[in-house]
Amino acid sequence: MSKITSIEGRVLFNSRGSKTIEVDVKSDNKFLGRVCAPSGASVGKYEATSFPSGGPEESLKILTQNSQKFIGLDSSDLKTIHETLKSLDNTNNYSVIGGALAFAVTIASMESASQSLEQPLFKTLSPNSEAKCPFPLGNILGGGAHAGPGTPDIQEILICATGSKTIENAIETNLAVHKELRKVLEKEDPNFTNGRGDEGGWAPKLENQKALEVSAKACENLGFTLGKEVSLGVDFASSTQWNEEKGKYIYDRAGFENSTGEQIDFAADIIDKFKLIYAEDAVHEEAFEDMAELTAKFPNTLVTGDDLTVTSKDILTKAIGIKACNAAILKVNQAGSLYDALEFADVANQNNVRLITSHRSGESTDSQISHIGIATKSKMLKVGVVGGERVAKLNELLRLSGHDFICGMAEI
Ligand code: PEP
Ligand code: MG
Repeated sequence: MSKITSIEGRVLFNSRGSKTIEVDVKSDNKFLGRVCAPSGASVGKYEATSFPSGGPEESLKILTQNSQKFIGLDSSDLKTIHETLKSLDNTNNYSVIGGALAFAVTIASMESASQSLEQPLFKTLSPNSEAKCPFPLGNILGGGAHAGPGTPDIQEILICATGSKTIENAIETNLAVHKELRKVLEKEDPNFTNGRGDEGGWAPKLENQKALEVSAKACENLGFTLGKEVSLGVDFASSTQWNEEKGKYIYDRAGFENSTGEQIDFAADIIDKFKLIYAEDAVHEEAFEDMAELTAKFPNTLVTGDDLTVTSKDILTKAIGIKACNAAILKVNQAGSLYDALEFADVANQNNVRLITSHRSGESTDSQISHIGIATKSKMLKVGVVGGERVAKLNELLRLSGHDFICGMAEI
């Protein structure tokens, strides 16, 4: 057992250039766990609050004032560390200390414990299970809240090398499709600037259908068949389009509106036409019944909740009750602490809801989420295709597979 001997934080910047908090936990005066919190742009209504009203500086002040409460704790005792955070903030959304602080303290403690145990983080989190590699799922074309005017309303078109037998091949295939898509976009629009959105996906001036067509074309140009070597996914991020007052989905950029029924048909047509393996938040975050309709219709697609389930075990339990989704995103900072997120993962795994561990659009160059994806038996790891803060997570999977820590790819 190693004991926490120091804990300190600092304010620094994420990949979007926004302020965030980083925490260092040291055990036995030498084993360092360092974690920097990410943050989202399309944020679910029921997510943990990232920071209190005073921002990252206020979270840092709270940590500094209470650091003594963590000294002497066993750094691998996630429950006690979680409870210590809860003693500072008993709200259900971390509005007092900030979910970002809960994220950084809990993961940094487990990282520090892993250093002292001389084992990778995923083993500390899940000591007894066989480790499988999640399939990388990455954004190749972005719009919505992650890119500017003129781009698609749909937030993300994603690639997943579902036919790959190794992580090396899966990553290389995703990269090849991303590269080929640039060529297709340049042909389509000679003025395409090669601009990219927050997660590294191309951000062209295209409406939704055309964006999907060029993505499919890039796969076909490489000789791939959709649904075989590679599959497409979409994060509709539909809460961005949902207008509560009008009771409609407003597609500002494409210039149309969908009623609830039309939105279900709109998503269903895309799932069908592009043989999607993955469809995230196809309806807004409170439309559980509408999600259930799509889940029943597409048993071979991962009909996934993100803003719908917000890494909350209680909300997931409600979703399971009405079969609203057959897959769910796990973003630790939606829940707050790693302890909360692992509880959510247990509920998902016990109920055959497939997990996809995910980055946020504003990221750090840390790679602990690759370990969290393995430890939670996630089927996919949604971390982008290019960009230093995205590739850091993919490279960590390669490092682990190079050491024979993981045996084979997950079964989707
Ligand atoms: C998402 O919506 O799945 C996502 C990663 O974006 P953000 O981090 O902006 O919520
Ligand atoms: Mg999403």
